[in-house]
Amino acid sequence: MRIGALEGGGTKMVLAVGDETGKIFEQESIPTVSPEETMPRMVDYFRGKNIEALGIATFGPIDVKKESPTYGCVLATPKLIWQGCNFVKPFEDALHIPVGFDTDVNGSCLGEVTYGAAKGLSSVLYYTIGTGVGGGIFVNGKLLHGMLHPEAGHILLNISDKDPGGSVCPFHPNCFEGLCSGPSIQARWGKSAKELADDPEVWELEGDYIAQALVDEVMTLSPQRIILGGGVMHQEQLFPIIRRKFAEYMNGYIKTPELADLDHYIVPASLHDDQGIMGALRLGEIAWEEANQKA
Ligand code: ADP
Ligand code: ZN
Repeated sequence: MRIGALEGGGTKMVLAVGDETGKIFEQESIPTVSPEETMPRMVDYFRGKNIEALGIATFGPIDVKKESPTYGCVLATPKLIWQGCNFVKPFEDALHIPVGFDTDVNGSCLGEVTYGAAKGLSSVLYYTIGTGVGGGIFVNGKLLHGMLHPEAGHILLNISDKDPGGSVCPFHPNCFEGLCSGPSIQARWGKSAKELADDPEVWELEGDYIAQALVDEVMTLSPQRIILGGGVMHQEQLFPIIRRKFAEYMNGYIKTPELADLDHYIVPASLHDDQGIMGALRLGEIAWEEANQKA
């Protein structure tokens, strides 16, 4: 089946056509400008591509509740021109195919669950640590939405006494994103995360914060595996630090075979930064399956 996939980001939109095996036939990116300019360009991309379904995984907050009058819309966001934009309807109206819709991070989580490092598992946590921090959550075989959708990048952490900076989140003086995103690292140390690769204190602190977040999430969600993606996680030296601190903060409280083998429990994203777009393929396929079950 030919499926369209859209991964929406604050700087670029990734558009692709692929199939249910995760194979991508063609892909391109366009800059994220304004809904007036960018939405018609995206709709045009998918026209004539002979796709049977479309999956959209995008930045939020978004309304993912199908029964809501604002389903498909971008909600209150700092990206003000996108606020209120309906991401789903223009595609449904133009293409007349089932459209799946979820957050970018739920999309990435689904990509890893379907095709990657969490294949076959039923409860998985995915975090991206990049320009922002966000969490995608798959529990008991389904992406978690709840009241809105998880905003796991803004869970609160204990500020380390070794932190010479602080939070860059305008809402929270001590949240995960505020303390750990790429821009936060840059603000704290005065250089980009990449340029700080050889500075151990940067990664010791970063690893400490990430481990705190993961312990809290494990206590709450009980995932079978945790996948960490995003630009900052390209610093692979972080993984041993995170696992060591995770074990320290967990302090032996939970005893499972998974936690006895942290090298296979806390792992890097495995799809070469294609987890989002591949997850969007699966979102499209799920929308198609749901539409055909109803029919
Ligand atoms: P986005 O979150 O915008 O989708 P990324 O996941 O690539 O994109 O995140 C970008 C952030 O990641 C930037 O703040 C950048 O400094 C940081 N980053 C990108 N590559 C690296 C790297 N190799 N090492 C450390 N940090 C990186
Ligand atoms: Zn915050």
